[in-house]
Amino acid sequence: MAATLLARGGGAAARALTFGCLRQLHTVYQTVELPETHQMLCQTCRDFAEKELVPIAAQLDKEHRFPAEQVKKMGALGLLAMDVPEEYEGAGLDYLAYSIAVEEISRGCASTGVIMSVNNSLYLGPILKFGSEEQKHQWIAPFTSGDKIGCFALSEPGNGSDAGAASTVARLDGNEWVLNGTKAWITNAWDASAVVVFATTDKSQKHKGISAFLVPMPTPGLSLGKKEDKLGIRASSTANLIFEDCRIPKANLLGQQGMGFKIAMQTLDSGRIGIASQALGIAQAALDCAVDYAEKRLAFGSPISKLQAIQFKLADMALALEGARLLTWRAAMLKDNGKPYTKEAAMAKLAASEAATAISHQALQILGGMGYVTEMPAERHYRDARITEIYEGTSEIQRLVIAGQLLKEYRG
Ligand SMILES: Cc1cc2nc3c(=O)[nH]c(=O)nc-3n(C[C@H](O)[C@H](O)[C@H](O)COP(=O)(O)OP(=O)(O)OC[C@H]3O[C@@H](n4cnc5c(N)ncnc54)[C@H](O)[C@@H]3O)c2cc1C
Repeated sequence: MAATLLARGGGAAARALTFGCLRQLHTVYQTVELPETHQMLCQTCRDFAEKELVPIAAQLDKEHRFPAEQVKKMGALGLLAMDVPEEYEGAGLDYLAYSIAVEEISRGCASTGVIMSVNNSLYLGPILKFGSEEQKHQWIAPFTSGDKIGCFALSEPGNGSDAGAASTVARLDGNEWVLNGTKAWITNAWDASAVVVFATTDKSQKHKGISAFLVPMPTPGLSLGKKEDKLGIRASSTANLIFEDCRIPKANLLGQQGMGFKIAMQTLDSGRIGIASQALGIAQAALDCAVDYAEKRLAFGSPISKLQAIQFKLADMALALEGARLLTWRAAMLKDNGKPYTKEAAMAKLAASEAATAISHQALQILGGMGYVTEMPAERHYRDARITEIYEGTSEIQRLVIAGQLLKEYRG
């Protein structure tokens, strides 16, 4: 019956079947035997994604709507502050757990995946690592439950890859910092209650003159730009942050003055594991959808999954996905074990994002015409995948990071 409906290209029935495909392809990862806690977490996140995200992801995308209710539920599950110790109201888990959770959430909804990833890695991450005890209590705990989320503002209209060329400035005036400048492309901007922002405190020192600050939102002197109209991840907001004589207390400096660039780079190392995991989730969703469709779609009298041309595509997709997942988990485990992981995080992000782009492209092809319309999620996976090759360092920048680390290792 199902195969017949699909053979006719029945829209609503096809959609229902495809939304069911997460359940049908239900295998907790076979790539590596995970510890029991991580398997349980994986299952919890998968169940949550199937129940709470899969049914509404297309609508959220269409309406560019922030999933407020779902974010709160994720906060209750501990998904918004995963590696934050319990004393600051986090879940006290490791980065491998975080990677698994971001993948599962992104498999259900890539926008929700990035909302989660930015709050965990880019907002809470630097405060946890570089914040004073007082800052940790003030700026972390309220951002763990989903009632409030944070954002991270490094990029500017004039410089993205060249983050050291920041033109936003911060000047000390008595007991206050005064911020001026514009930050661009900020994820979560319209929905956030605080931002970690980077500004130059000493231009003569170039990137060593950049400092990091904690700014509440809203706050006088800080305004939001228009919501960007994006290709994908449309349920997450992206906008400029405009600072015009924005005054914040002196105590809101994060880390030491001049440490901002180091804070940003170390934060992005962790963030790249989050984006790699988001890419894995998108890629897995696209592959699931393609396998499900290939088994049910009839052409020339039998399912297209019997065609070697389709099988070769599926094999290449699975290969790229599993390889990228291993790289991502390796980077997460290195971080968990306190080992250097800059190169491995860049490799994970590069491999997973390029795999997500290629896999979602092929998934759409396998669905033929049904891949091209919004009745099925393949076109959304295709649109959502693309950003993972751009933010938190483009693929070109990841290659520079990998080569740089490689040569450093060689030269000792
Ligand atoms: C949807 C979205 C969300 C984002 N979220 C955030 C956020 O939350 N916070 C934030 O701070 N930023 C965010 N960004 C910004 C993002 O990180 C930048 O767009 C990205 O780093 C690239 O910078 P750019 O757009 O200025 O491109 P450019 O730096 O101008 O690069 C243009 C092209 O040149 C290439 N290029 C540049 N330099 C080199 C080089 N040295 N070698 C080889 N090739 C090079 C790039 O790879 C790219 O292909 C977001 C962007 C988008 C689109």
